[in-house]
Amino acid sequence: MTPALPVEPAAAVHPHAVHPAVDGEPFGVYIHIPFCRRRCDYCAFATWDDRAHLLAHYVAGVRREIDLAVASGLAPAASVFFGGGTPSLLSATQVATLLGGLPLVPGAEVTLECNPETIGPRELCGYRTAGVTRISLGAQSLIDHVLAALGRTHDARTVTRAATAVAESGFDSWSLDLIYGTVGESLDDWRRSLATALDLAPPHVSAYGLTVEAGTPLAHDPARHPDDDDQADKYLAAEQALMAAGLASYEISNWARPGHESRHNRCYWSQGDYRGFGCAAHSHQGGRRWWNVRTPERYLALLEDGASVVAAGEHLDAGLRRLEGLQLALRTAAGVPLGSLDDDGLEGLVERRQDRQVLTVAGRLLANEVALRLR
Ligand code: SF4
Repeated sequence: MTPALPVEPAAAVHPHAVHPAVDGEPFGVYIHIPFCRRRCDYCAFATWDDRAHLLAHYVAGVRREIDLAVASGLAPAASVFFGGGTPSLLSATQVATLLGGLPLVPGAEVTLECNPETIGPRELCGYRTAGVTRISLGAQSLIDHVLAALGRTHDARTVTRAATAVAESGFDSWSLDLIYGTVGESLDDWRRSLATALDLAPPHVSAYGLTVEAGTPLAHDPARHPDDDDQADKYLAAEQALMAAGLASYEISNWARPGHESRHNRCYWSQGDYRGFGCAAHSHQGGRRWWNVRTPERYLALLEDGASVVAAGEHLDAGLRRLEGLQLALRTAAGVPLGSLDDDGLEGLVERRQDRQVLTVAGRLLANEVALRLR
């Protein structure tokens, strides 16, 4: 998901904007699936655990939104990302229905986020036949008591089973997604989680520190809030274990074997254009951003009325766009062009690589502070 954005009047944005791709620039599509079997109490995403009855109607609605965009000249996508929510609550037929409406460039990357308890060889085979090329497996941890503390419905054995099925199902690539910093997770738990995860030989790993999102049950329970120093130790443990296993950091929270970096994420990080479909989905084209209404009910009602599903949007001026581009680039292994940072006092946090400045591992721990020095 793209980060929350400020809001301006919906009237400023055309409901079904045309998306010509700039030649050679990546263009991505995001499809939001706002359904989960159970709500995790740290999660602030636009997702619901009591609306499974809307799923079929919702898929038809998203297909309609896609068809309208295609009729307005939607460019072929180099990457598609099914995020949520729990996209693996979709059947293979529903995934095929949505993908079937999209123009894709040959060899497009098509990622589907999966929760381990929802997939087995049969589902995975169906997704692959439907056109999915990459699985992002939301393992979160390989330690049972940590998974229980996170309120997840799966255990470590289920992750192992799902990851094995993914690896054996013939996808081009896949990612194992982890969270660190849960209350009750010791540094040793985290190291064991990483080691067990790496035994599954994922070509890509995302590891995010648990964050406290306003309005979530976790936010109201300070005793379970993560500790900064503990998270820093766990980040360093992740970097060490993943590097030793041949996965290089290409963004602060993402590691991959060569050739397995997520094309879709790279589109976001390089300020590429992307179009979001579904409720709460965000879009970006050439410095203009907009986002759809948040709830599936409202989204479906607007489609039914033939009205725009766009909630609001904003235009970024050139200065803001440039600064955001640098902030995103700073988080990646490519870093920022020399001269973009006022690097007085940043010794040990950034290093020069040819004509770029790149965060060191210590700098990645303080990336937000370093970003304040961008100019
Ligand atoms: S399964 Fe994922 S999207 Fe759903 S509530 Fe939990 S963290 Fe949020």
